[in-house]
Amino acid sequence: MENVFDVVIIGGGPVGLRVALSLGRAKLRVLVLEAKSRVGYPNHCSGLVPIEFINIGEVKDNLILNYIKGSAVYSFKENSFLFKRDIPYAAVIDRTNFDIYTEKLAKSASAKIIYNAYVKEIKKEGKNTLVRLNSGDEYFARVLVVATGAANAIQSKIGVELKSETIYTVQVDGEVSLEDYEVAYIYMNNRIATDWFAWIIPTKDGFVRIGLGTSKGENILKKLDELFSEWSLLKHARIVSKPVVWSIPIGIPKRIVFDNILFVGDSARQVKPFSGGGLLTGFIGADDLSKAVLKAFNGPDESFYKALSSYESNVKEKLYKEFGRELFLRDIYKTLSDESKDKILRSINKDKVVDVLLKFGMMDKPSITGLKLLKEMPLMLFLYLKDKLSV
Ligand SMILES: Cc1cc2nc3c(=O)[nH]c(=O)nc-3n(C[C@H](O)[C@H](O)[C@H](O)COP(=O)(O)OP(=O)(O)OC[C@H]3O[C@@H](n4cnc5c(N)ncnc54)[C@H](O)[C@@H]3O)c2cc1C
Repeated sequence: MENVFDVVIIGGGPVGLRVALSLGRAKLRVLVLEAKSRVGYPNHCSGLVPIEFINIGEVKDNLILNYIKGSAVYSFKENSFLFKRDIPYAAVIDRTNFDIYTEKLAKSASAKIIYNAYVKEIKKEGKNTLVRLNSGDEYFARVLVVATGAANAIQSKIGVELKSETIYTVQVDGEVSLEDYEVAYIYMNNRIATDWFAWIIPTKDGFVRIGLGTSKGENILKKLDELFSEWSLLKHARIVSKPVVWSIPIGIPKRIVFDNILFVGDSARQVKPFSGGGLLTGFIGADDLSKAVLKAFNGPDESFYKALSSYESNVKEKLYKEFGRELFLRDIYKTLSDESKDKILRSINKDKVVDVLLKFGMMDKPSITGLKLLKEMPLMLFLYLKDKLSV
């Protein structure tokens, strides 16, 4: 039947497209339903990815805008700490064209993509799941993959809740004069970027992505104005794009597999709780999901659901365990006042911190680096406990 698919994926973001690509290559009948008229727009993402993502994500050279070798962290009083290596630890990718490229690969692997296809209803029909669009068109899925990003509408349609904390974000492209374009700049100011941080990520030829995240959603554009007037690096910046307001869902869901319905990417909160990076982790989730789906289709009928659920246990081990430790570090970060963070930056023993960063990396497992830093910086622990008790 024309409208019956092995796998229907709701959401044509990078993670949904990655699943479509893998399962299309494995010759399953795959359909992607994307609410928007095209993929990749608007770009809400900074595109900063660990170097290993270039291989994993099949990122072509022309999609790499810049390489990042270090970071400079600023307190609200503009005391700063700069760390830089000789070799890059991250790349900045062209996120819009990366999504379009992944879409092209998925199509050439025979995945079908329908645009302007907002899914408004989901219903169990025997072994399959019925998916109904706003237009009234209907499709049937043996396996349904939910890759809808931060949007939570599908959860309520199937009566589940994947709890998360929302970080509200805004980002613009800009032109800024910086001393070093191989460094990612971070600004900690709790009044502007509450419980999170602001950033400048250099892309190409003097251009940058400037943004902030906050746990307080209201007046985010006003916060962006404040950021531009308060962070000295941005005093003479020129904005060259419209602001994009988006959100990052962080947390650890109890379940991400519900019979034949599987959540992945941001919709499964596969986002690093300390940095908000979700491309590498989303692709790890997507690849594990694809393996489980193939196991289900290639195995005996009676082990179909068991094979699908192996995705959940694998991802718990690979991603959510680490996220648990990052959430602990995030609690420390959230508890420390701006004054305490400033004090820590001023008192840092640069050699020791650089040692830890060189040894344990910056992006792969921030929890390991963070816990080691905590050990090297008793002042951080002391101020955390002091700030915690005074709350
Ligand atoms: C400001 C900001 C900066 C970031 N910077 C980085 C970074 O530097 N590095 C990094 O690794 N990560 C970063 N991230 C995170 C990264 O962007 C996400 O992890 C990634 O986009 C997740 O991909 P996804 O496919 O799961 O979801 P999305 O990219 O959100 O895609 C979901 C898709 O589902 C569609 N959809 C939603 N609901 C429906 C529906 N009902 N029917 C049909 N379609 C639907 C949407 O239209 C959308 O196209 C950033 C995020 C933000 C907000």
